[in-house]
Parts: sequence; structure tokens; C-alpha cells
Amino acid sequence: MTTYLEPRTGRSPMHGSTLMDRVGQALSIKHNNLVYEMRAAGRDVITLSLGEAFFDLKVPTFGDLEGAGADGGGGTGLHHYSHSRGLPELRAKLAGYYQDKFQVPVDPDREIIVTAGSKVAIYMVLLATLEPGDEVIIPEPFWLSYPEQVRLCRGVPVMVPQDVSIYDLHRYVTPRTRALIINNPNNPSGRVYSEAELAALHDLVHDNGMLLIADEAYNEFVPPGQPFRSCGAFDPDKEHTVTVNSMSKNYGISGWRIGYVLSHPRLMDAVLKINQHLITCAPTILCRYVAEHFDDILEHTRPQIQRVVALRNEVAGQLDALGVRTLPGSASFYLFASLGTSMLDSTAFADRLLRDSGVSVVAGLAYGESCDRYVRISVGTESPERVARGIAAVRDLIDATSPR
Ligand code: PMP
Repeated sequence: MTTYLEPRTGRSPMHGSTLMDRVGQALSIKHNNLVYEMRAAGRDVITLSLGEAFFDLKVPTFGDLEGAGADGGGGTGLHHYSHSRGLPELRAKLAGYYQDKFQVPVDPDREIIVTAGSKVAIYMVLLATLEPGDEVIIPEPFWLSYPEQVRLCRGVPVMVPQDVSIYDLHRYVTPRTRALIINNPNNPSGRVYSEAELAALHDLVHDNGMLLIADEAYNEFVPPGQPFRSCGAFDPDKEHTVTVNSMSKNYGISGWRIGYVLSHPRLMDAVLKINQHLITCAPTILCRYVAEHFDDILEHTRPQIQRVVALRNEVAGQLDALGVRTLPGSASFYLFASLGTSMLDSTAFADRLLRDSGVSVVAGLAYGESCDRYVRISVGTESPERVARGIAAVRDLIDATSPR
């Protein structure tokens, strides 16, 4: 049988578009799939590669929710689509959260959209704002989906090497620059931007007619006493700021798929159209649960968040004592550790560490080309003892692969 080829491209119809040739897999997810397979085969893996912290959380029951009548909610909407800007009660809670915690005024009717995770929220913002060929500045280390999402929107990601000061980002601005994306606190380094740095970024985007997209998914993971400013506080009229956040990390419910975006009503109206065509709404029953239990879930997770942040900073000290340097940072549950004198690149290092020592970390290359001398260590899902064993294995592999 001869294979049919699509006449225009000369390729099989099952071949993805040329755009897909340029978009890579999410390396961390790919790596974690390997971990799941090894575990399924009975191997004990010290997992320092997962992008979340595991909390002790109640499994929800829905019977007490508003609308869960004798008909189980069937007649009142718990099982159905809900408002495509997000359940009004949840929007009101989130607007109140940003107002109380960060003094960012948010109109819950026009300036917020709740959707199925912040990942797709960022994508929708890019889709709503980029023309083909528009450039988006992305400082390294970046959260690994930013460049691929820009590419999916037919934009051009402009990566900035990790040793470039954010005060020098203006060097990367061209007439095609449309936006700058930052992740504060940063995954993978745990860096928190200072007030002065954020003010400088706002000046940069303001002076160049750009957008500042601030991903604040880890905002609760900041050590007590350390100042954290939301980007939105610098631009209360939302003239150039888009803030993205999520219940995934702060509430420890990544599988529930609830994220949100705050910005100017004009941009939110555009994002709304995309949300209506792609998602419709975030899961209604789960949004209702979060709206009704907004404060108690956070009260329950906050002490656990603080424990994992404290562990992160203890591990930073342990790595330092072992002579393993990390990029500056204090927040989140991630550390970005230097491979020092190892002769392996980050991918080979992560592969060998997993194969030989049963310890999984994510190759730094996933977070930018200037990060190939690093690996990301997450302390969110293992006990302190197992984390200590994991980092000792990192140290040993650096030694074993360094020149004698
Ligand atoms: N932003 C950052 C920085 C993240 O680390 C993640 C998840 N790893 C997300 C966004 C996406 O989170 P979600 O889609 O679950 O809200």
C-alpha cells in the first residue's frame, strides 16, 4: 500500500504542523514519566524532580456545598458548566485575597478570569496579545513552559542568560518586543525579586510599551519576615501588568486544575473569548469547594508550606557545606544547584544520577541554555532524610565525574 502524502507539504497527514517541529516536550514532565515507570517496575527512586509539594489535605466531600440538595446538585449546577469568567464566589475570594495581601485592587467582575490552571492562563494571555513574530523577553532560569508557549502562539522567545542583571534587560528590547515574563518567586532558583528590581522592571515595560507578565504561583512559599511584593501593586490601573496565579502550589491541589489571571478589563475580555472557546470553565464543583473553603484550606496548608520552605533553606545550607553552590534564592521548595567541576552536561548528569543512584533531579537545560551547568532539586515530596541522601548522591556524582 502506498502511503498517502499531503500534497501541500509532502508529509503524512499524521505529521504535526511545522510549528510542532519547533516546540519541545516539557522536559521535567518527560523526566518524571521515566520516574513513574521506574517506580512501577519496583525501583525505589528518591524523587527530587517533582514540581510540587505534597501536603496532608482532607479529601473533599461535596455533600455540604451550596447547591448540593437532595438531587446531589444535579438540578442546581454543581455538575454543570459555570460562568466562563469563573464562579463568581471564587472570583470574589481571589480579588479579596489580592486586595488584602498585596493591596492590589481587583474588580471581580471585569479584571479576573479563573481557568483550568495557570499554565493555560499564561498561554491565553500570550495568544490574546502576540502577533506572529512578536518577541517576548524571558530571563533564565525560566519556568520551562514560557518559551514553548510563546512559540505555540507563533511568537519569538528571547532568552536572557542567567548571569545578566535584570537592570540590563533593556539591551534585549527591540521594536518587536511585546512582553517580559517573570516568575516571582522563581521556579527553579527560589529567587524573590526585590522592590527595587520590580520597580525597574515596571519602568522598563512602561517606557517601551510592553506587558509585564508576572507568574506568582509560589507567592505563599516565601520565608516569614521576607518582603514579597506582587507586581500588580506597582500598577494599580493595570496599564501594563498581567498577574497569573494558581491554586496548584499554594493550596497543594495541582490536580484540581484551578488557576487565574488578573489584568485590565480589555485584556480580560480577550482572554475570556479564548477561555470560552478552549476550556469553557474550570471544574465547577471544585471551584465551589475552593470558594467555600478558601480560608480553611490556606490555614491548613500555610504551616506545611512554611515547613517545606524551611527544609529548602536547610538543604541550601547542607549543599553549601558539601561545596555545592546554588543560585541565590530563599523561597519555593526548589534549589538550582551548580554541577561545579563535573564534566557532564546537565542532561547526562540527571540521567546518570537516576540510573546509577536512583535519585531524580531535573536537568538545568530545561530552564535555559545558560543553565546547563545546573540541576533543579525539589524538596517538596521527600522526607528530610531522603533529601539528604539525594544531595549526597549529587555530591558523589560531581566528584566521580570531575577531572582527577
Ligand atoms: N507557573 C510556574 C512557575 C509553575 O511552576 C507551574 C507548575 N509547575 C505553573 C505555572 C503551572 O501551574 P498550574 O497550571 O498547575 O496552575
